[in-house]
Amino acid sequence: MSETISDLIERYSGTLSHISDTPQLDCQLLLTHALTKGRDWLFAHSDDTLDGQTQTRFVELVKRRQKGEPVAYLTGSKGFWNREFQVTPATLIPRPETELLIEILLERFDESPRSVIDLGTGTGAIAISLAAERSAWQVHAVDIDEDAVRIAQNNAADLDNIDISQGNWFDGIEGSFDMIVSNPPYIAAGDSHLESLRHEPLRALASGAEGLDDIRMIVSKAQEFLAEKGVLLLEHGYDQQEAIVTLLEEANFKHIERFKDLQGLPRAVMAQSPRDSTA
Ligand code: GLN
Repeated sequence: MSETISDLIERYSGTLSHISDTPQLDCQLLLTHALTKGRDWLFAHSDDTLDGQTQTRFVELVKRRQKGEPVAYLTGSKGFWNREFQVTPATLIPRPETELLIEILLERFDESPRSVIDLGTGTGAIAISLAAERSAWQVHAVDIDEDAVRIAQNNAADLDNIDISQGNWFDGIEGSFDMIVSNPPYIAAGDSHLESLRHEPLRALASGAEGLDDIRMIVSKAQEFLAEKGVLLLEHGYDQQEAIVTLLEEANFKHIERFKDLQGLPRAVMAQSPRDSTA
């Protein structure tokens, strides 16, 4: 007798436990992708059997997952904040810890009109989540990678308060912003953790010997692009918070605040522009 959907998920989950902390979820996501159905459908049909073609498609995906390809690249999609984002190997896969940046900005700033720029937007996860939550904000996003820009533009297609362009950090940017936000590359070039992230774009992950090259550059340029009382909010590595606070202090930023992620690790810093009306 052929295996049911729940049998298949159980059997193939076992083949992913060496590579994944969530083998069962991975199998469910790969199977819904092979079926082109949602997870709700899967749960309602757990006693069904699959046709041969679908099963073959599913097994192919599981085999790629066994070799380390991330689920989001296999399904082409990843949930972040309130939306699904199209992802490709041109973009970093949005991480749950990055939702901290969204929480901070939504808590601090209400619906009144404001301008935001997201540097190194990738899929557009940060910029698009903010634009979707705050229709009166005008959101701009940049990424150096043309493919990433296209993906982010697709992901933003239903929103009219966001524009996304190709560029290297602040190059070609004009005007000033109430908020500058970024999840820049911040892993040290020699970090062994990079091996497990080898399917993702290295230039979205690694940033010089200490992982601080891009953050240093952003801190040094940010005040030129911040409106009066504008804030800079950066995601960073768990062991970089104090180094970044020092950089911000040296650049005379004010009201420096430190944030931890859901796992309790230092993960973000926010600071206010050194400029004020009396300067
Ligand atoms: N948080 C990611 C990781 O360590 C890195 C993201 C980044 O470099 N911006 O997997």
